Amino acid sequence: MSNRLQPESSAAHRVIPSPNHGERKGDRRPDMLILHYTGMPDEAQALQWLCNPASEVSAHYFVFENGHVAQLVPEARRAWHAGRSSWRGETDINSCSIGVEIANPGHDGGLPPFGEAQIAAVIRLCRDVVARWSIPADRVLAHSDVAPGRKQDPGQRFPWERLHRAGVGHWVRPAPIRDGRFFTRGEEGQPIEALQAMLAMYGYGVPITGAFDADTEAVVAAFQRHFRPERVDGIADASTITTLRDLIAARPRAVA
Ligand SMILES: [Zn+2]
Repeated sequence: MSNRLQPESSAAHRVIPSPNHGERKGDRRPDMLILHYTGMPDEAQALQWLCNPASEVSAHYFVFENGHVAQLVPEARRAWHAGRSSWRGETDINSCSIGVEIANPGHDGGLPPFGEAQIAAVIRLCRDVVARWSIPADRVLAHSDVAPGRKQDPGQRFPWERLHRAGVGHWVRPAPIRDGRFFTRGEEGQPIEALQAMLAMYGYGVPITGAFDADTEAVVAAFQRHFRPERVDGIADASTITTLRDLIAARPRAVA
C-alpha cells in the first residue's frame, strides 16, 4: 500500500523528487528534449547530486544503468540541466526543454558503452515524452549540441541512429569518410562562412565570421559527435559537410 507520487511518464517507475527547479520563463511549453550522461563513476552518487539543493542541477528524468527510470522534476517545471546553451537563437534551453540524465561514467570514465536495458528504457521514455509534448524530431538533441564549447554528453557512443529507427530524433546516414578537401582551425574565407551558415541554419549557436576559430571547431566536433560519430575531430571534411547538408535537406517540417 502506498500513495507515492506517480510519475508523469508511463515509461518511468517512480518519483524521486529533486528541489532543483523553477518556473519556465515566458510561458514556454517544452518543445525540445535534451539528453545527457551523468559523467560520474557511480550512478547513486549522480542521483544524489541531482537531488542535492547545493548542486543546483537536476533533470526531469534519470535513467539507471539497469533501465529503471525515476522522475525527479515535474514536466511543467523548469529543471536545471542545460546551463548556458543555445539552439536556433534561443538561449534559455531549460525553459523550453525536457531533460533526461542517463547514468554513464562518460568521457572521464573511459566512455563505456550504454547497456541494452538502459537504451531500451531511454527509447521508451523518449517516445512517450516526444508524443505527449509533440516534440519535433530535430529538437531531440544532445547536451553537446546546445553547449558545444562546454559539454560532450551524451557522447559519440550514444546510439542516435537506433533511437531514430525507433522513431526518436533526426538522423540521416552519414556520408562516408574519404580523402579530399577539408577545413580546419585557422582557415578563413567564404567556404568557412558557408559552413558556419549551414551549422547555424540547422540550429547550432555559432557566429558567422568566416574565420574557423576554436568556437567553430567545437561546434563541428559537436555535430560529428551526434551525426557523424565515426570520427570526432573538429575538422570539417567532406563527409561532415555532406552529412550536414543532407540533414538540412531532410529536416522535418516545422510544427505550427
Ligand atoms: Zn549534460
